[in-house]
Amino acid sequence: MSDRPNRREALRALASAAGTAGLVVGGLGGCGDASPAEGGHDAESAGDAAVPADGATDAVISGGEDAGGPRRPHVAVIGGGLAGLSAAFLLDGVADVIVYEAGPNVGGNVHTAEVEVRGERYAVDVGAQYFNGELHAAYVALLGLLGIDLARADVSPETGMTMTVFATDEATPRFVSPLPPSRLWPLNEPWNAAGVGVFNRLAAAARRAEDEALPYDVPLASFFADAGFTPAEVEGLLRPWAVATTTGVLADVEALSARSILAFLSRALRPDGLPVAYYRTLRAGLRDALDRMVQRSTTVTVRRETRATSLERVGSGFSVGVGAQRADFDAVVLAVHGGTAAGLLGGLPDASGLAAAVRAVPFFKARLGIHHDRSHLPAEPRHWSSINMAVTATHCESCMHLDPLLAPHPDGAPLDLFKSWITYRSRPPELLLAEVEFEHMAPTVDAMRAQDALAALAGAVPGIHVIGGWTQHLELQETALRTAVAAARAIAPEAPNLRALEAVVPGL
Ligand SMILES: Cc1cc2nc3c(=O)[nH]c(=O)nc-3n(C[C@H](O)[C@H](O)[C@H](O)COP(=O)(O)OP(=O)(O)OC[C@H]3O[C@@H](n4cnc5c(N)ncnc54)[C@H](O)[C@@H]3O)c2cc1C
Repeated sequence: MSDRPNRREALRALASAAGTAGLVVGGLGGCGDASPAEGGHDAESAGDAAVPADGATDAVISGGEDAGGPRRPHVAVIGGGLAGLSAAFLLDGVADVIVYEAGPNVGGNVHTAEVEVRGERYAVDVGAQYFNGELHAAYVALLGLLGIDLARADVSPETGMTMTVFATDEATPRFVSPLPPSRLWPLNEPWNAAGVGVFNRLAAAARRAEDEALPYDVPLASFFADAGFTPAEVEGLLRPWAVATTTGVLADVEALSARSILAFLSRALRPDGLPVAYYRTLRAGLRDALDRMVQRSTTVTVRRETRATSLERVGSGFSVGVGAQRADFDAVVLAVHGGTAAGLLGGLPDASGLAAAVRAVPFFKARLGIHHDRSHLPAEPRHWSSINMAVTATHCESCMHLDPLLAPHPDGAPLDLFKSWITYRSRPPELLLAEVEFEHMAPTVDAMRAQDALAALAGAVPGIHVIGGWTQHLELQETALRTAVAAARAIAPEAPNLRALEAVVPGL
């Protein structure tokens, strides 16, 4: 690690003068932050007053050595989304962790907005929103460890996931899904029969793909053809449905990975063919879980509005730069994606293979809005589903009906709150309450191959851990969390929070 005794002494004096007993000063410190030794800490921006006026590159960090005990490893986590914060939380107590988050808030793809409807405030997840026990076993266990009581319907309502595929210029939807026992009428509508047949066959084919472990690099277009779907079925229903779950661009279906796209549908039908797609949300918003991880940590400092701009090797450790400032660490968890991760890895001579694999994972931008505009749904409210996929000549984007997930308004009238993908809409929704742009992994065949290459390089650069939902074939909070578990296990397998999670998730 860097050895700068003069700077070290100066900072030790600074800490001592400030009466901050218990803080550690040194070349392995965080980036210009004087943080408390106890309690998860949300530091302010990179320009904190503790940064010495001469542009010092070392700093005071949180936590520190236990009196007389071994020195805790110093770990930088770059990126304060679910993956990065989970890694920090899992390492709490056994490592001194600085989380660098470029944005004003932690969360990344978890973005809970507060909106007001007729004087009532509602927490609404603009990005990630749903989870269920089967796909999100570790995430559900984490929520339990954080004290979120999923048994309470007012904390975590469970709702049936239904789907409508429609075009605004057609008299009836192309497909409305049933949901037993409450919504059986779609099974009896003559106009819906063809769609019910197509999706039943697709769900069965999807289940076979899972059971037989279809390789992830089989393209969706060839899967549809091999499974016997006609061109009319593909064009009218399957292509729009597939892209509405990802990029929204109809032409993209040729490149998508069949297994990645079908994974959700494969779990959506019971053996008797009836849907069982039940999902949970959090009334307080998914951000609640992230805030709890920060609050419950004692040796983790979160630095918001602090964009990491460089990563270099220093001795057997690493130096993380924020502009002109530098701080040294034993290990670095890269919880950012795409060009950002590849750019940072570019500073490490032995990480060129890792950087190339990261760069090969494609991403797309998705803009989402929370609004009151009913024109994003079918004209007839009876045809509304949880997810309503609007087909045009070139795109298909979804609109979610949020009312069933939220507390009813005291006046008894509908909230009419909707969440739409609005990247390609011909006109923005009216009565827009919140709008956010996200960056998503594009689940293409190329992405699957690049992720496999990335997985094969795990451990190739000791001390560097590349994590995040985007590194996995299914980009979920669950998979983001599991990558954080892998990093924490490599850094400090004895970490208590990691052990606690392992104890309640078999085979984690
Ligand atoms: C619209 C949308 C809907 C989704 N819906 C669901 C869902 O319903 N259920 C589900 O399970 N999953 C869902 N997901 C996926 C899930 O959100 C992600 O897998 C998971 O949240 C990704 O977390 P992450 O930490 O890997 O990445 P991110 O959330 O992208 O976090 C990366 C963080 O790094 C920060 N950052 C970037 N560059 C820098 C830098 N140089 N220095 C410091 N910080 C930096 C960013 O600001 C960001 O906060 C959804 C995703 C999106 C986009």
